[in-house]
This record gives sequence, C-alpha cells and structure tokens, in this order.
Amino acid sequence: HQANLEQVALPATTRDGHTIAVAANAGSTAEVAKAVTGGAEGIGLLRSEFLFLQCATAPDEEEQYRIYRQALETLQPGQPLIVRTLDVGGDKPLPYLPLPAEDNPFLGQRGIRIGLDKPMLLRQQLRAILRASKHGAIHILLPMISNLHELRLTKELLEQERQSLNVAPVPVGIMIEVPSAALMADVLAAEADFFSIGTNDLTQYTLAMDRGHPKLAPLIDALDPAVLRLIKQTCDGARIHNKWVGICGGVAGDPQAAALLVGLGVTELSVSIPVIADVKAIIRNLDFSECRRLAEQALTLSSASEVRQLMTNSFNK
Ligand code: PEP
Ligand code: MG
Repeated sequence: HQANLEQVALPATTRDGHTIAVAANAGSTAEVAKAVTGGAEGIGLLRSEFLFLQCATAPDEEEQYRIYRQALETLQPGQPLIVRTLDVGGDKPLPYLPLPAEDNPFLGQRGIRIGLDKPMLLRQQLRAILRASKHGAIHILLPMISNLHELRLTKELLEQERQSLNVAPVPVGIMIEVPSAALMADVLAAEADFFSIGTNDLTQYTLAMDRGHPKLAPLIDALDPAVLRLIKQTCDGARIHNKWVGICGGVAGDPQAAALLVGLGVTELSVSIPVIADVKAIIRNLDFSECRRLAEQALTLSSASEVRQLMTNSFNK
C-alpha cells in the first residue's frame, strides 16, 4: 500500500521528458486531504462556493482564514492551493445575498461580476486568502473574467487589502471560461499570473448550449475543434508573457483528451480525485512530440466526433 502511495505521488513526465503538473479539484477541506493521498501535486481549483452555500449566513473573514490555512497545512510544503473566489449567481442563489431573478442567468450576474457589484464579500474573501498566504503557496483564481477591465478592478481591490494587511503579493490567475477571455488571452496574460481554463463553461458559451439542458447537455463535447482552437489561442497568448496554463474543467480528467491538451501547450491538469492516478499514468505513456502533432491535426478537423475518432485510432492500435 505504501509503495502504491509513493508511486502515485511521482511526477507525470512524458517518455520524452515533458512534465505536466497534475492537481485536483476540491470542494471541501476533507477533499483536500483525499487529493493529497490520491497523488495530487496541489489543488488546482478550490471551489470556495462550498463555504458559502452550506450556511444561512456568510462565513466571516476569520472562518474563511481558518479553512484556507487548514487546507494549506494539509498539502505538502510548497504545493499550490488555488482558491477560486466565490463563483455564484444566476442559477446558484445565496440566501443572504438577494439577487434579482434574471431571464438569462448564465449571461447575467455571475462570478466576478457579483464580486465587483458587492465588493464587501469579495474584499473579505481576499483578506482571508491574503492572511492565509503566510502558511503556504496560496493562489487566487478569479471566475468568469470576460475582459481586462474586470481583472484590473479586482486587482485594485486586492492591492488595497494587501497593503492594509502588509503581506507579500499572492499570484492572481483568471479562469478562461468565456470565449472573449480566450480570444484576448495575449492581452490578459500581460496582467494575470496564470490561466486556468474552465472547459465546462467555455464549451457551453462557445457552442451556445446550456450545460444543464436536458436535450443539449449530452451533445456538448469539450473536444469540439471550436473549443480546441480557443484552448490553443489561450496557450499561445500565455506563452508570449511566460505565463502557465492549466485546465480545471471536466475534460482535464478525460483519458481521450490528455494527449491533445498537453499537445496544445497546457502544463497543468486539475482533475477530480478519483482520476488523479489514471491521468498521471496516461501522461507517463505519452510522447510530447506526438502530442503536438496530434493537436495540430485535431485543430484541422470539423467535429468533436472526428477528434475522438483521431484519438481512438492513435491510441488503440
Ligand atoms: C468550468 O467552468 O469548467 C469550471 C471548472 O468551473 P465550474 O464547473 O465550477 O463552473
Ligand atoms: Mg465555470
């Protein structure tokens, strides 16, 4: 059993020496502990909603600080904890945050838009994260950024709180989950420290198909070449500014996708806990030069099913 634990903790390096960080998505501190045992090299996405959705009143700064600190202390020294600021709105209501009903919740007040509209909640969360930063490698991840202005406004709030707490800067990344953000990646990468691609939302917005729709959701596939082109554009934009790109959407844990995502230039995959070991094993069997060739080819195809066929033909020989 001990040998298995050590094996799963080893890095995911392709046969030709290209290392991909494999982290986990977590929605509680219990999951952070499970992720570490499962071989995760950090938490690529802490969905902080869990702190806010489970209670009748907002968790205060102190409570949030304790949870983030506890998560950091559960990780190995140096392993990153990427905390996504509160991502609610539209379809995910909060009892203590009255939001007007909307005709198009997914196109309305969501994610960072709520944070900027109700800055007290966002400031409080940023303060809790900044205070916890003394206890480990905490990173801030902003949800639903759709333009540079939102990033700048958020960084201003953060800088004010940082100065008042007198702590060192914390890396600030953005979710790339809106097509405009992917298209403007070269511009955003100048001012964000890293990108994490949220393929669940990026695919729904690119294909204009509601991810929860009973008829449409089954047709949604993040390996659609339209989405792959946006992932490529995101990686190309980030590279100009030497920033790294991860994926925290569901496709990061899809065994057929790993080669393509790596080939497109992604260097971190944040996956659900049960598939950490599998994703690492898949990467260890890949050849980076072959991944790049496959990615190039996938970008010329016309549908997700063609992309999946390409992957089946390449790996089930
Ligand atoms: C995503 O959109 O891909 C993502 C990781 O965020 P969530 O699923 O929490 O919206
Ligand atoms: Mg999302």
